[in-house]
Amino acid sequence: MPNLNRITVLGAGVLGGQIAWHSAFKGKSVVAYDISADAIERVRAVHDTYEAIYRGEVGVSDSDVAGTRTRLTYSTDLQAAVADADLVIEAVPEVPDTKTAVYTQLSTLLPEHTIVATNSSTFLPRDFAEATGRPAKYCALHFANMIWAMNLAEIMAHPGTSRETLTDVTRFAIEIGMVPIPVGGEQNGYVINSWVVPLLNAGQTLVTNGIATAQDIDRTFMANGARFGPMGMLDIIGMKTAYDVLAYWGERGDDAQMVANAGYLKEHFLDRGRLGVATGAGYYDY
Ligand code: NAD
Repeated sequence: MPNLNRITVLGAGVLGGQIAWHSAFKGKSVVAYDISADAIERVRAVHDTYEAIYRGEVGVSDSDVAGTRTRLTYSTDLQAAVADADLVIEAVPEVPDTKTAVYTQLSTLLPEHTIVATNSSTFLPRDFAEATGRPAKYCALHFANMIWAMNLAEIMAHPGTSRETLTDVTRFAIEIGMVPIPVGGEQNGYVINSWVVPLLNAGQTLVTNGIATAQDIDRTFMANGARFGPMGMLDIIGMKTAYDVLAYWGERGDDAQMVANAGYLKEHFLDRGRLGVATGAGYYDY
């Protein structure tokens, strides 16, 4: 049984940054790759904040932090970034053409043994399996935001995924401290986003249509003890990814309200640089 020890994360944004840091913290050798040098600079700064979070919330020692940093490198060179990878985790934007282009490029660069997993929130691995050039070695491995606290990893196959790939990916998830959640069939949104996306869309509908403020929506949700309401969750997820999801599925489902919700996010947040927690402002200021 091969061990998946050398990991490359494609896309060093909100989730890629978390997966890269956490995997290195758990002992994996990690390359965080992004197409954008600016994104790499940002994720380095974000990793400083993760160090503080892990010291405060996870309870780690100086040597844990030093080891994490030693095992974590950054790259804007795709060929070099994946040259030794046992597992590539794709966390580029939730835009089908972007993902397909990345997989197509990747397919010419990977060592034969490399497994590829997508962290996509709402697409199916079958959508991209052929583009990877290695469908048997491809599946979804979906992490939740705030990986240090929400230690779930949903694992979903497409019809051509091999049993060995699922076994290896599941073992990797366990090795980095995740509770694996096997998804028993192909489902857009897995388990978690089958309810999170409708929840976020419902909250956004109330704001878009002037029915309630973001604060009041979150107050009603948090009255049962939840740490965040749906509008605070949008900030944590990041407005760009929330927009991508609502815009794509709104168009695809011919859902005028969802399209309007995406338009609201664009006008009030994307166009104003208020991308959520990552930029210090979204529905709330941070
Ligand atoms: P993000 O916008 O924060 O980050 C995406 C990163 O990908 C950016 O840094 C961007 O520069 C980079 N990128 C763009 N094109 C690229 C390319 N061709 N090659 C390499 N890098 C490229 O997005 P995110 O929120 O981290 O989402 C990434 C993926 O993870 C999406 O599929 C999303 O659905 C999924 N996801 C997000 C969350 C969340 O809470 N944000 C949770 C689970 C899964």
